[in-house]
Amino acid sequence: MTGPILPAGPAGPAGWVGLEADDDEGESVAEQLRLMAVHAHPDDESSKGAATMAKYVAEGAHVLVVTCTGGERGSVLNPKLDRPEIWRDMATIRRAEMAAAREILGVDHTWLGFVDSGLPEGDPPPPLPEGCFALQDVQVAAAPLVGLMRRFRPHVVITYDERGGYPHPDHIMCHKVSVAAFDAAGDPERYPEQGEPWQPRKLYYHASFNKARVLALHEAMLAADLESPYTDWLKRWEADGIDDRGHLVTTRVECAEYFPVRDEALRAHATQVDPDGFWFHVPMEMQQRVWPTEDYELVRSLVDSQVPEDDLFAGIRETVRAGAAE
Ligand SMILES: [Zn+2]
Repeated sequence: MTGPILPAGPAGPAGWVGLEADDDEGESVAEQLRLMAVHAHPDDESSKGAATMAKYVAEGAHVLVVTCTGGERGSVLNPKLDRPEIWRDMATIRRAEMAAAREILGVDHTWLGFVDSGLPEGDPPPPLPEGCFALQDVQVAAAPLVGLMRRFRPHVVITYDERGGYPHPDHIMCHKVSVAAFDAAGDPERYPEQGEPWQPRKLYYHASFNKARVLALHEAMLAADLESPYTDWLKRWEADGIDDRGHLVTTRVECAEYFPVRDEALRAHATQVDPDGFWFHVPMEMQQRVWPTEDYELVRSLVDSQVPEDDLFAGIRETVRAGAAE
């Protein structure tokens, strides 16, 4: 199987859905700061970097979320919606949820068109289903993303680290495809059928699930005599010997003002989150006070910017003409 195996979403990889999808504002759009966030499944954009995106949209940047798969093999994680008719129509429902989240975040969105690999469970885990995203050839699967990078021309690209940030085969594949596309998009020799070369300037990994942040929130909950949702998580972290990548964080983006937008976008993925669950246990005021940033690891940079940074566009903002941050 080569290339996307589903018809791509409403606009398809040829375009994207959003208010500014048409470049009809001419030069002012061309001079805008542009951010592309590549995610594995619908809902990942709302749990990783959502407040950052909402902040940059509010500042006038153009943000495009690219979702690699349709999330067809996701479970219903909201007990209130765990009904047969929901399970039957997962793909359609998740498209509608994604559209709602897109509106809330104010971003543009497109699907890369691959099929969810599912999270293999069992010992040993079952083989991945035929034709799924994680089984694609990386260079082939990167082609539509290279095309999107060349049309959208992002200054900044965000993806997951090499472990996927979370051990799902689609997250690891999302990492591989994003890095391959970042490295190829500016090279005229590579993927000549995908359009004029465009080299994004910076590549980041999401790094908000670092131990210092989780511990800070955990301790703030205990200090307020509240039950911490992180107790088991921290125990597992120790027991499983999972490395903390906190020391790799280069960039902390202040975006606490947009945490409520992040929660609202996450709730729009109604089949994927329990509104009374884990994600919503820490009071908003506490989240904003204890850890007011979303955190990133800068892994490629073609511009002059000194780490630590507080802005994904540091070193780029200066070179893009006025109008970018209005
Ligand atoms: Zn995911």
